[in-house]
Amino acid sequence: MRALASGQRQAVPISCSTQDRNATPFRFEITAHCSHSRARCGCLHTPHGVVQTPRFMPVGTLATVKGVTAPQLQDTGAQMVLANTYHLHLQPGEAIVAEAGGLHRFMAWEGPILTDSGGFQVFSLGDINRIDDDGVTFRSPRDGQRIALTPERSMEIQMALGADVAMAFDQCPPYPASEADVAAACRRTHSWLERCIAHHTRPDQALFGIVQGGCFPALRQESAQVVASMGLPGIAVGGVSVGEPTEEMHRIVRQVGPLLPDAVPHYLMGVGSLREMAIAVANGFDLFDCVLPTRLGRHGAALVEGERWNLKNARFRHDHTPLDASCPCPACRLHSRAYLHHLIKTEEMLGKILLSLHNITQLVRFTTAMGQAIREGCFAEDFAPWEPDSPAAHTW
Ligand SMILES: [Zn+2]
Repeated sequence: MRALASGQRQAVPISCSTQDRNATPFRFEITAHCSHSRARCGCLHTPHGVVQTPRFMPVGTLATVKGVTAPQLQDTGAQMVLANTYHLHLQPGEAIVAEAGGLHRFMAWEGPILTDSGGFQVFSLGDINRIDDDGVTFRSPRDGQRIALTPERSMEIQMALGADVAMAFDQCPPYPASEADVAAACRRTHSWLERCIAHHTRPDQALFGIVQGGCFPALRQESAQVVASMGLPGIAVGGVSVGEPTEEMHRIVRQVGPLLPDAVPHYLMGVGSLREMAIAVANGFDLFDCVLPTRLGRHGAALVEGERWNLKNARFRHDHTPLDASCPCPACRLHSRAYLHHLIKTEEMLGKILLSLHNITQLVRFTTAMGQAIREGCFAEDFAPWEPDSPAAHTW
């Protein structure tokens, strides 16, 4: 991985201003630009600290990044983590989290947190009874209880959870879907966004809007314009990584990135593969999330040099070298491939934990390496191999 191996160069320090006590708790400061692409570095100031972008955010669905303690998570270089409104509403319920003093205290993560709105999970996991312009009614997969989720309810739950960033309640259509269905989902998403803004009152929490529009350029353009016109402190692009061909995702990223207002952070939801993150950063995206690193770790797979390695493979049995000698994670610093192979073969929980830590570290380091390259003026040169038409492009 050329970009990560370029660590010998003199690092350009990140110049990020310290938070002014009297300033608004949310501020996005752009600290460097790439002169050959839309890539930029920024500092997103939140009440729980600064997120230096571009940056991968690990997913802690149930207020835990699976298998990883908060200090271990911090050591991966992660600065902001995700939690999931839908899952936390079902268990333990936002009242318990609020009773604990909010999500930061509940999960012992002192850094910034972002909660999604629950919309994606309701539409992808829920047993939906009814969907209309008011909201969605579904049956809880836990106990069959009927639950109604509306934009107002999602805001109430997210305000009770108390993350630094709340996401608007949106309708993410499945892939494939007809243009008429995606247009209807867009209209609903935009009217729900207005209701989210009207209902969201927590001053120490930012609300980000979500652009939808599926694979239809005209709908994407309209959605980007509508969401951008709301003047929110951050904008996400949703409805990607939902089963569409990767070429479609690249096209959406290239189309929508330049339509977003420069002054706010741009978050590409559910995307965490190296090639896609590099293309997105080149098109002005700043934040990414994906369950992939921990999911792969639990299945005994490690991300090494942009590829997936299955640690169960017998080729590692006698391999006493580190997984990745340049990686600072505990799996690579303390252990050998042979030991990791042994842990995975015997289904020891430590193996899954170490691989999860390694995979998160890899994705976070890839995004911080892009930031370093942007500051040093060599992003286009170092990360061009990640463009899909390049012969050197990786495909995982
Ligand atoms: Zn590692």
